[in-house]
Amino acid sequence: MKFAPEIQRNLLHMAIIRRQLEAGGAEIITPEQAELDELLEQQRRLRDAAASAAMAVEDMETEILRIQADERKLRRRVADDREALRATSDPEKRRDLEHDEYSAKSRIADLLSELAEAHNEIHALRSNHDNHGARLDELNKKVDLATRARDAAAESRHHLSEENIIEDIERIRGELPEELLEAYDAAYKEYGVGAAFFNGRSCGGCHMMLPANDRTRIRNLPEDEVAECPNCATLLVRTSLQN
Ligand SMILES: [Zn+2]
Repeated sequence: MKFAPEIQRNLLHMAIIRRQLEAGGAEIITPEQAELDELLEQQRRLRDAAASAAMAVEDMETEILRIQADERKLRRRVADDREALRATSDPEKRRDLEHDEYSAKSRIADLLSELAEAHNEIHALRSNHDNHGARLDELNKKVDLATRARDAAAESRHHLSEENIIEDIERIRGELPEELLEAYDAAYKEYGVGAAFFNGRSCGGCHMMLPANDRTRIRNLPEDEVAECPNCATLLVRTSLQN
């Protein structure tokens, strides 16, 4: 079967884009994907910040519980001192007990002001935490929208390029000689490739290294002779698309 190298190149081009189409096309970073990636990065940072804010609230709650426990202990000490005071008339013991009661009370006063401060702080920390939560909710919605936009864009681009490729395939088929097309279709039916580049050593369809005598034979065929892989029957085109 003889066809000019130029015609064989067209056949190879068609076979290659058809295989690309069947492979689902290559992954590319779209503007929508870039936008989504940016939002996901913001989401990650905000989640970290929200987790830190939650931890700060927890720490302050622990601090408040500690202050309250200390206060209870001191109030018990005051009550114990008073009871002991009622039970003794010894001046020295009374002086010690009164001193202890006084210092416990002044420590309680300190604790109460610490507690007031801690309550103010936890209020601020809680509203900071709530604020992070609200911003995160907002951002999660944006991520959802951006994900949908990315998917929709990918879908429409996929259809667009698919349509273009199918159009190209049809156009090239319309230009190829009938006999060559029939041979291509038969080879495609046989192995699923149809036509592939022969690099002088192996078949671009089945990727088998050809036996030495086949390699030499195919290399020495006249350039308008269409070769065939002895292994998978794919038509072998010896001029690459770049030539
Ligand atoms: Zn092959």
